[in-house]
Amino acid sequence: MRIAIVGAGVAGSYLACMISKMGHEIEVYETNGEGAHWPICAWGGSKNMLAKFSRQAGLEFNEYINHTGRTLRLELPGNKVEYLELKGLVTYNKRKWESDLLRGIRVSYGRKCNLESPLLSECDLVIDCTGFHRSLLPKSEEDFIIPAYEYLVENLKDIEDFYVIGYKGARGYFWCFPLSKGEAFVGAGDLDRRYYGISEFLARHPECNIRKKIGRPIRLAPPRRMQPFYWNNVVGVGESIGCVFPMLGEGIIPSLICCDIFLHELTRSNNLGKGFDFKHYSSSVLKRFRYYDDVYRIIRLKMASSLNMIRHFKLMMNMYQNMKREEDRFGFEVSLTKMNRFVNAL
Ligand SMILES: Cc1cc2nc3c(=O)[nH]c(=O)nc-3n(C[C@H](O)[C@H](O)[C@H](O)COP(=O)(O)OP(=O)(O)OC[C@H]3O[C@@H](n4cnc5c(N)ncnc54)[C@H](O)[C@@H]3O)c2cc1C
Repeated sequence: MRIAIVGAGVAGSYLACMISKMGHEIEVYETNGEGAHWPICAWGGSKNMLAKFSRQAGLEFNEYINHTGRTLRLELPGNKVEYLELKGLVTYNKRKWESDLLRGIRVSYGRKCNLESPLLSECDLVIDCTGFHRSLLPKSEEDFIIPAYEYLVENLKDIEDFYVIGYKGARGYFWCFPLSKGEAFVGAGDLDRRYYGISEFLARHPECNIRKKIGRPIRLAPPRRMQPFYWNNVVGVGESIGCVFPMLGEGIIPSLICCDIFLHELTRSNNLGKGFDFKHYSSSVLKRFRYYDDVYRIIRLKMASSLNMIRHFKLMMNMYQNMKREEDRFGFEVSLTKMNRFVNAL
């Protein structure tokens, strides 16, 4: 098959590597210029999962790790502080990881694709890996995004571990994710665009330099609300179809899980000697990410100050049980007691 991948972020670069191993003819299109390409992200994720995806793609994940967390300090409204035990949460060199995945693959940098692009008719299958932009698929009326930006800072002293401040009403949070050698990402996603914590952090660390300011909104609407996943010969994978954990705006692992669903479907179609089964792919994605919709409902209820721990008990338990089952995938402890305390404090 002749397959085009639009967007060379985490999903696009991983898919390009894996699909080219399957022997398909592949082309990648990326809007950013080659040297300028910078993944807008805080580069945090679970080592347990990233090692698995790396192994599948033929990379050794340990070579990319910047910082391995032990404890996450979480500040909550009302001067409350919680500590979460970390079980594999790391920051890693996402830029290098993505560029290594693309080694040997033809990438057209500086090519912004849209619905008029000729490749749509020239290829058997076009994969929309444009993340937040969702450039090749119809917009969803149920889309929901949160504005975010971050600084890459260097020359930091006394930076210990992952540090987060949760905003009242679950309207966003501040993060400080350490990299290595005195570098960190310091940023925030905030529905109200106040970004509390960033300037306070910089004031506390006059020694640090800002090397980069980067940002874009993060999609919180889960797959169920980001349909359709396909349109003619275009199919979405990753954040373009809502594969982001709504409570955290964490999209690396969900996008990669979505890639594996796509790859499984592609193999299945090849084995059957048929074209790509868009319907089967869509139902597999919806099934895998079903509980993300419950998490999203909890967040939206909290944002609207309408979450009631008694009325919404089943919803909360469902979120907890699913997260607990996937503890390894998050890279931090999932505790019912702490979760209740966070939700109540926010
Ligand atoms: C500030 C910030 C911090 C974040 N921190 C984390 C984190 O620490 N951990 C985590 O798990 N998630 C984090 N996320 C979310 C995570 O980065 C995304 O969910 C994830 O990268 C989505 O992967 P993707 O491949 O679907 O899209 P992306 O990684 O966004 O890749 C999309 C690519 O498509 C390209 N593109 C867009 N439009 C076009 C077009 N028309 N033509 C060609 N190319 C195009 C873009 O340039 C980009 O390279 C963060 C997001 C933001 C904004």
